[in-house]
Amino acid sequence: LLQLFIPLNFLGIVYSQLKHAIADMQLMFDVLEKRPEIEDAPDAVPLKLRDGEVRFDRVSFAYDPDRPILREVSFTIPAGHRVAVVGPSGAGKSTLARLLFRFYDVNGGCILIDDQDIRSVTQQSLRAAIGIVPQDTVLFNDTLRYNIGYARTDASFEEIQQAAKLANIHDFIISLPKGYDTVVGERGLKLSGGEKQRVAIARAILKNPKILVFDEATSSLDSHSEQIILESLRNAAQNHTTLVIAHRLSTIIDADQILVMQDGKIVEQGSHGQLLGHAGVYAHLWELQQQEEEKQVAGQVP
Ligand code: ATP
Repeated sequence: LLQLFIPLNFLGIVYSQLKHAIADMQLMFDVLEKRPEIEDAPDAVPLKLRDGEVRFDRVSFAYDPDRPILREVSFTIPAGHRVAVVGPSGAGKSTLARLLFRFYDVNGGCILIDDQDIRSVTQQSLRAAIGIVPQDTVLFNDTLRYNIGYARTDASFEEIQQAAKLANIHDFIISLPKGYDTVVGERGLKLSGGEKQRVAIARAILKNPKILVFDEATSSLDSHSEQIILESLRNAAQNHTTLVIAHRLSTIIDADQILVMQDGKIVEQGSHGQLLGHAGVYAHLWELQQQEEEKQVAGQVP
């Protein structure tokens, strides 16, 4: 029996590691998508995290050499600050997050965390420092408790519930007949986009990384769900360096700094008030979204 136990136990470990690895990859990518293998430098050392300052220094990047996506992008997110990136679809906003997580390497310039080039540190230490709330969260066919807790396997049930409370998903979970033992995912209870994002926020809160990246879902949520997500995000972002990739300007009005991207370049930056005063791209985008919202409200009136 012992002879059987060891290989079975080993298989169990491999299965569980595989399950985690797949979910990590799916965070921002389709697993089948081809992308270059990023390897640790031979002399890579663990990232020495201090306060979690993030700096993009003249970063250029192209998925395909003939089509530049980012052109000399520079910005700094001071430790503990919240920076939002806005701009038209395809401007390269989500690419910034992929490069920070080092799913790809930059073609020019560098990305620094606490003054260390992310290419010089181990990927494991880099990814441990960053929590990502992706546009589309992938849930395991497993319980809600597992889905939140997998961010930190040593977390107690109390800690999992605390994270769920801060992410505004606890009350929903306990309203389900099986509570935290409810199985979700493709073969379980299907959650709405907003609920899935709150599960992802709970995961990020539990992981408690210095750096948080929130890739806002493109699909619009009703304004009540949006407010709940916003509040959850504020709870998660407290004392963390945060990069928000925003599709709705209303969600980032209070960001410390807003970067406006167009054609792979930062064309404007400042606070919401400063950018409105500037009467440029941001002010125009704001105007368009206000008109859109007014139309929606008018459409709801019978
Ligand atoms: P959205 O607001 O629609 O999410 P975005 O500003 O986040 O857009 P990115 O996802 O960063 O845009 O994509 C920037 C450009 O890079 C797009 O034109 C996109 O088609 C292209 N792109 C994204 N991923 C890949 C990839 N894996 N291979 C080739 N091109 C890609």
